[in-house]
Amino acid sequence: MTPRSGSFWRARVAPLASLILLLSLSVTLAEPGPDGMLRLQMPVKCDLDRDCFIQNFVDRAVGEDAMDFTCGAQTYDGHDGTDFRVPDLAPSRNVDVLAAAPGRVLRVRNRMPDISVLKIGEEAVSGKECGNGVVIDHGGGWQTQYCHLARNSVMVEPGTEVAAGQPIGRIGMSGLSELPHVHFSVSYQGDWIDPFAFGSEPGGCGGGEVLWDFAATWEYETDFIINTGFAADKVTIDDINWGALQGFVFKADAPILLAAGLAGGLSEGTMLTLSLSGPDGEILAEKTVGPLDAPMAQYYIGVGKRRPASGWPEGIYTAVMSLSDGETVREKRFEVER
Ligand SMILES: [Zn+2]
Repeated sequence: MTPRSGSFWRARVAPLASLILLLSLSVTLAEPGPDGMLRLQMPVKCDLDRDCFIQNFVDRAVGEDAMDFTCGAQTYDGHDGTDFRVPDLAPSRNVDVLAAAPGRVLRVRNRMPDISVLKIGEEAVSGKECGNGVVIDHGGGWQTQYCHLARNSVMVEPGTEVAAGQPIGRIGMSGLSELPHVHFSVSYQGDWIDPFAFGSEPGGCGGGEVLWDFAATWEYETDFIINTGFAADKVTIDDINWGALQGFVFKADAPILLAAGLAGGLSEGTMLTLSLSGPDGEILAEKTVGPLDAPMAQYYIGVGKRRPASGWPEGIYTAVMSLSDGETVREKRFEVER
C-alpha cells in the first residue's frame, strides 16, 4: 500500500525521453504560490467521500506507533503518503489519476502487472514498491509522486509539461498494493511531507498548513461504506477489488444470493450489520460484527441465502448495510430484481 521511505524509485529513461528532458530544461517551471507553498488539487478524478475515499493518511507518529494528522488511526506505521481509494477496478469505472499541480514529469514506470501483493508476495515488488507511477517536479523544491497505476495506463513521459488536473494515468493495483488506490505523496526539498499538515511537528497533531484546495469543503471522516452489491457465489475481498459486485444479473438458477459490503476507516467500537430481505420483506439472512476491538482500515461483510427448492420468488430483494456506534452512523440500502 505504500512505497516506504527509501524506496523512491527511478525508472529507466528512454533515449528519446532523455532528449525531450534536456530540450525542455530551458522551459520555466510553474512556480508554487507567492508564499512558496504548493497548492494541490485532487489527484484522482472522483468525488471524495462519494465514489472515492481516503483510506490512509501520512503517519505522523514518531517510532513504531501510527497516528494521522488528527491524532486518528487512519494510517499505519511508516506510511508516507495519502491513499485515495476507489471501490473497485471494474472496467466501467476507468478512474483517471490527475496531476495535482502544474509541473514537469521527471520519471515514469508503466509495465508492472496489476495484482494484489497478497498473491505474489512483497519480494516480487522489492525495489519497485510504487508499481506503475509518475513523479512530477513542481519547482521550488516540490515534487509529487503517484503510485500503483494500471499497467500501460501512464500517458505522460519524462519531460512532459502537465497542467493541474491533467490526466496522467489510471488507477490500478501495481507494486506494493492490495487494493485499488493511488498512493499519493508529496516531497519538499527531498523530504516526504504531510499535505494535510505541512510544517507541523512530527509526533504531534493539529497545526501546519493544509495544501489541498478541497480542504475548505471537506471534513475528516471515519467509518465509511466503500462498496456494496450482490453476487451469485462467494466472493473474496480481491474479487470485490476487481469488480465482482458490479453488473450482477439475478438469474433464476443462481445457487446463492449473496449481499456483500466493504467498509473502511473503521473506528474501535464500530458495529457492522448487513441484512438481506426478500420480495415480501421477510429477512432472509442477517449478520452483525463487532463492536470492533481496534480500528481497522477495512472490513468485508457478506450474508447469503441458498436457492429455495421451489426457486427464487420474483420481485425486489433488498440489502441494508449499516455502521453504528450505538447509533447508526452510516447506512446504505441496495436492491436487485429477480
Ligand atoms: Zn499508501
